[in-house]
Amino acid sequence: MLFILVFHPSESSAEEDKEIDVNKEKLALYKKNEAVTNIPWFYLAAIDKYEKNIKKDADSENLISIAIPEIKWFGIGNPSKNTTASWISAFEGWGKDGNGDGKADPNNDEDILYSMASYIEQQGTSREDIKIALWKYYQRELTVQTIANIAKVYQTFNTIVLEDNDFPLPLNMNYSYRNTWGDARGFGGRRIHEGTDIFANYGVPVKSTTYGVVEMKGWNRFGGWRIGIRDIKSRYHYYAHLNGYKEGIKVGDVVKPGDIIGSVGATGYGPPGTSGKFPPHLHYGMYKDNGYSEWSFDPYPYLSRWEREARNKK
Ligand SMILES: [Zn+2]
Repeated sequence: MLFILVFHPSESSAEEDKEIDVNKEKLALYKKNEAVTNIPWFYLAAIDKYEKNIKKDADSENLISIAIPEIKWFGIGNPSKNTTASWISAFEGWGKDGNGDGKADPNNDEDILYSMASYIEQQGTSREDIKIALWKYYQRELTVQTIANIAKVYQTFNTIVLEDNDFPLPLNMNYSYRNTWGDARGFGGRRIHEGTDIFANYGVPVKSTTYGVVEMKGWNRFGGWRIGIRDIKSRYHYYAHLNGYKEGIKVGDVVKPGDIIGSVGATGYGPPGTSGKFPPHLHYGMYKDNGYSEWSFDPYPYLSRWEREARNKK
């Protein structure tokens, strides 16, 4: 056991090395486009990350995941798929030449990123301008918010490599949980249990499991005092039945794994302030957004992995 603990973290596979190279290459592309268009690199990185999150084709060879629709790329009324940059711009297509070969190739990473950055630049380069450009492009509030939040996280930590997680409760406290995904729930009509309950005493600190931004905070009839955090993978982490919040925490705050956000309680199942209708526990839920809708998935396997990893770090 000791051998595994000592040697495993320093093992570096070829796949991990490749991942590091890919991230370096991506960052270089974002920064190059920032220099040319004045769109901050962390916004370009956030758009790219968001598009990667919603992508069905995960095996794509492309470095950049942004997919600009053909009609926008070539321009309305353009009769051909000729990629000559000057031809596309004659039809007011978005397609631009990012790598200096005279072509605006919708499958070329540099051309794609430069075309997106140029579109945004036309609307302006302030935070508000960028949000307006994103709204015009995606026409969906949650998408714009998620991209803005990912950008905020990248800017705050000044990197796109943010893979750490943490278990939501301190490991040295008494707690217990098991997989209750899909169990029946009585309150509020027939519904299933969308999450994992971690039982612990009142006041045990609750920590963020991920890097992310506080998207929601306040009372909810089922969840009581709850907080919701959106991570950079477009996942929403829902912490319910809290006794209270960390002082000063508010919507829009950036968090990292291990940051305290509140404490365990038994609030919910009634009007604001209702507490004690069930034993104190943290209800932890996870939801994934695919760009159209959000659905809940079982957090139990993640929790047990994060618990194991947190234990191994000690
Ligand atoms: Zn629950």
